Amino acid sequence: MKKIILTIMLSLLLAGPVFAEISVVATLPWIGSLAREIGKDKINVTVLVRPSQDAHTIEAKPSMILAARKADVIMYDGLDLEIGYLPLVIESSKNPKLMPGKIGNFDCSRFVSVVEKPSTVDRSMGDVHPLGNPHYHYSPSNILRVADGMALLLAEADRANADLYLANHKAFADRVKEKEKQWSAVPLKGKKYVAYHKYFEYLAAEFGIQFIGYIEPKPGIPPSAAHIEELIETMKTAKPVAILVTPAYGMHESEFLSSKTGVKVIVLPHDVGSLPGTDDLISFWDKVVSLLK
Ligand SMILES: [Zn+2]
Repeated sequence: MKKIILTIMLSLLLAGPVFAEISVVATLPWIGSLAREIGKDKINVTVLVRPSQDAHTIEAKPSMILAARKADVIMYDGLDLEIGYLPLVIESSKNPKLMPGKIGNFDCSRFVSVVEKPSTVDRSMGDVHPLGNPHYHYSPSNILRVADGMALLLAEADRANADLYLANHKAFADRVKEKEKQWSAVPLKGKKYVAYHKYFEYLAAEFGIQFIGYIEPKPGIPPSAAHIEELIETMKTAKPVAILVTPAYGMHESEFLSSKTGVKVIVLPHDVGSLPGTDDLISFWDKVVSLLK
């Protein structure tokens, strides 16, 4: 009997105090990946959008609402990228923790230096990004600031594990900063490209690459024949090294343009897990830089 009691006491001691896990819902794979870097086993993460999906055309599903109902925090890209489903998911979840203004409503874009921020908002032209370019996950320096904010949020939401979150955050940030030295040594500055969608503006800002044109005349608007003809003419003089596209969006049109111009297509990952070898944010950036090279 004594032995059994001793064993139970010992196992309780080893198990340590039990804390509730923080339940995180992330809209996009890269956000889930960043949360896991900082939260590790102290949080459980549900990601709403699959890596194979195009983030612009997601619709709300009952499973999303169910996940949001049980969540402590919802983390999202912001800048209206999730406008088509997220407001509905949050409202239908009836989860007071996730309502706008609450600590559990975490808009990653608050920490970002937004590019292409328009002076006036006008959706009438069909622009899907009226608040500025939402694809900042291509920019390690912006994501480092999102990581700062995320670490503070988790430390605040779960104070018992605050030191762990801050240590995990520092380890991640140190790894990224080390990698940034490698990436900045790759000679990409001044290289010219065409892109299907305005996915890579933060890459341009961070790595000094240039875009001489876009297959979409405006984000979310498919190209007309006249626009393609004009782009072909521009490409003849500007001689871009490649047409950049992502697997879920614009492949067909990019290959058509390639067949007309002889300029090769490079398929870049649009999110963590969307191409082989992009299992976390650092390998995602590694892949992007090596494909551009
Ligand atoms: Zn977009």
